[in-house]
Amino acid sequence: MIVGNWKMHKTIAEALEFLKKLPSGLCAEDIYLAVPFTALSSVADAAGTKLKVGAQNVSEHKEGAYTGEISIRMLKEAGATFSLVGHSERRTYYHETNQSIAHKLKACLQQGFKPILCIGETASERKAGHTQAVLEKQLSEGIQGLTSEEVLCLAVAYEPVWAIGTGHTATAEMAQETHKLCRELLKKRYTADIAAKIPILYGGSVNPNSIEQIIQQPDIDGALVGGASLEVDSFVKIVTIAREYKS
Ligand code: PEP
Repeated sequence: MIVGNWKMHKTIAEALEFLKKLPSGLCAEDIYLAVPFTALSSVADAAGTKLKVGAQNVSEHKEGAYTGEISIRMLKEAGATFSLVGHSERRTYYHETNQSIAHKLKACLQQGFKPILCIGETASERKAGHTQAVLEKQLSEGIQGLTSEEVLCLAVAYEPVWAIGTGHTATAEMAQETHKLCRELLKKRYTADIAAKIPILYGGSVNPNSIEQIIQQPDIDGALVGGASLEVDSFVKIVTIAREYKS
């Protein structure tokens, strides 16, 4: 599962240029693209079966007086099938908490909309030896109240904050160790079978050079890709390499 995150990049015209350049042989099965709200409808129309189109954030509320927010129903109508939830940039700049993230996850799953829960420690938390505690808290508080059936539709993205947009990818061993920890936590909460079925993606400066090592790790089921998803060449290379190892 490879998920591109365009963040606040690309107008509708630029997004359609990207879509035009995508090879026709791509198949939506395992490729996801989180685009700006404004480009959702056009990209979904143009994408056809090449990829799944989604949002980068979603409201936990169904509708009402929430200025500036976008509901799941609105996203679905625009052609979105999933949303990132709790990206570190939203936690940092817009003060999203584990509690509000849990509400968003529940709302998505109750309305048949796939959420990708993002978790990750900062550089100072890692340095202080708090990585495990931070991830356990973000994951367990995020998924609180989700039934076994609901959690099976979730994907988790482990994204060390110090690796996002910095060019410093975590080593494959470091990422595997953390993914294993997340898998264990899911196993404790649910069952080994359920834990094995939930995709855990790695994110943080993934590019065509780093994906090969990362994707070979047993508990890494895919990648969340920011910068390298903005160019067709690098995004398609990442998808192609990942498929070699995981298909
Ligand atoms: C991200 O946006 O989640 C991300 C991982 O960005 P980048 O690949 O640019 O580090």
